[in-house]
Amino acid sequence: AQQYNYAEVLQKSMFFYECQRSGVLPSDNRVTWRGNSAVNDGSDVGKNLSGGWYDAGDHVKFNFPMAFSATMLAWGAIDFPGGYTASGQLPYLKKNLRFVNDYFIRCHTAPNELYGQVGNGGIDHAWWGSAEVMAMSRTSYKIDQAHPGSDLAGETAAALAAASIVFKTDDPAYSATLLAHAIQLYNFADTYRGIYTAAITDAASYYQSYSGYNDELVWGAIWLYRATGDTTWLNKAESYYANLSTEPQSTIKSFKWGLAWDDKSYGCYALLAKLTGKTQYKTDIERHLDYWTDGYNGQRITYTPGGLAFLDVWGALRYAINTGFVAAYYKDAATTTAKGTKYNTFAQTQMNYALGSNPNNRSYVCGFGTNPPTQPHHRTAHGCWSNNLNGPPAASRHILYGALVGGPGNNDAYTDNRGNYVNNEVACDYNAAFSGLLSKMIQDYGGTPLAGFPVAEIPSGEFIIEAKINGSGPTYTEWSVWVNNHTAWPARIATKHAYRLFVDITEGLNAGYTPASYVVSANNTDVTFTPLQRWGTTGNVYYTEVTFNSTVKIWPGGQGESRKESQIRIRLPYEAPASAWNPANDWSSQNVDGNLKEVGNIPLYVDNALVYGNTP
Ligand code: BGC
Ligand code: CA
Repeated sequence: AQQYNYAEVLQKSMFFYECQRSGVLPSDNRVTWRGNSAVNDGSDVGKNLSGGWYDAGDHVKFNFPMAFSATMLAWGAIDFPGGYTASGQLPYLKKNLRFVNDYFIRCHTAPNELYGQVGNGGIDHAWWGSAEVMAMSRTSYKIDQAHPGSDLAGETAAALAAASIVFKTDDPAYSATLLAHAIQLYNFADTYRGIYTAAITDAASYYQSYSGYNDELVWGAIWLYRATGDTTWLNKAESYYANLSTEPQSTIKSFKWGLAWDDKSYGCYALLAKLTGKTQYKTDIERHLDYWTDGYNGQRITYTPGGLAFLDVWGALRYAINTGFVAAYYKDAATTTAKGTKYNTFAQTQMNYALGSNPNNRSYVCGFGTNPPTQPHHRTAHGCWSNNLNGPPAASRHILYGALVGGPGNNDAYTDNRGNYVNNEVACDYNAAFSGLLSKMIQDYGGTPLAGFPVAEIPSGEFIIEAKINGSGPTYTEWSVWVNNHTAWPARIATKHAYRLFVDITEGLNAGYTPASYVVSANNTDVTFTPLQRWGTTGNVYYTEVTFNSTVKIWPGGQGESRKESQIRIRLPYEAPASAWNPANDWSSQNVDGNLKEVGNIPLYVDNALVYGNTP
């Protein structure tokens, strides 16, 4: 029976990839809290490397896992197309695939040159804010003939080849372009051998190529075979298969890890088993899937008490779902019906665990199901202005619909804690096989996407004025006024910040002064202000408009960066009698006292639009 609305989850998973977009967003962008970002990526090397996906909760573009994610997304649509079409998600998948593959093409700057990372891990991770306003330098890293990376180039070739299959009928020209890049990149990978993290050393701290490149050479050749039907590629894949890793001190192919961004061997076993029907591949994939289900020769992966097959602490759900995807793909080719059923059940059980069938009875997908994560480790979804993942703001301001979090520990325990990137980060690679398996679940059980999704978020608290009375005397009032930029729909930096201070000068006029008698002054030099001018055509309310110089940057990038102070005094000549100055009737003194706080009667105009506060 259908336990969850898999179509809704797939719909949201497609949305998650849209949340991860870097560069110029297309006009049909559905994420109301995202805007253009990192549009100058590649400018450090004179290239346009904009586009692609932010890796996870950070803003580095790590192409190695990005390409794996793209390959897996395409694989899901190739072998489980029915769920995508039935749920209306195929157009969204294609847009996502196009977005990321366009980026890979941009990164492929010469036959044997491929950019493989934009953004330095340490520098990027040191700042916590929204992608749209990030200000750190973003370094571009590449592989080439002299510094090869067969894993990176092989995986990128796989992604492009797999996507070329998806686009074959509706956009043959694009499909051909993808394929041409895939072939060239595969040849680069194959001819100039090396581990990409030896060339792009910064990636070694995050996506070290532990398994080496032999798996990507098999994998890439398989995808080229599937894209072209040319058996030369299949022969290559089969001949390189011998190089895949084995269990220590044995000739048995490795079976205890799982398909993920590093090691594609497990995907190769399953694909070659189905594509050729040969016994060796079947033996290798079944040993692996048996290990993950009821055991191989008495050896079995750890299971949590609640039933999650638990490979590793970091992103446990992703490994289980990835292996579930492989199991679901392979099951029809299993050597016995019982095994096929076992693999299929495993895939479904792991998916249902992630969606809510777990001891915590909670969903591990943001914005879906019962008690989902609301505080994922994700900078832009937090909508933070203080450069602090703990906030302010304390609560994340956006819903990162569809993102699968890392998930529980080996005892099923989990807390929805933004600071925990092991259990509560999200990532492009987590959602990739996940999407494909969802499509398969829709094929089996149906499901209906939500009508009217997504509902646009309603921005709130984006610009704020805080003020206090900085000083007062018998003939003057001095305000301290802080302009705060807490924008997050999307985060943005304005060019003009102006506010108005309103006073009622009736008592001054009664004492014989004129509007021109009033003196406006500032304690700081980075503002300009107008002389008092009349507000409206009746009454004696006057105001000064105070404008920060255009060089003043007020941006949601840190506690200090997000707010700027100005101190403004309005006064009569000092010899004026106290009766000529009465702050009690002044609009902008209402509810303003000696303590800095948000106030309503000092309206703020950003780029000439009233964004905060009330006018008299
Ligand atoms: C980043 C995460 C990353 C982690 C480990 C954190 O600072 O926010 O995105 O996964 O470091 O590298
Ligand atoms: Ca590898």
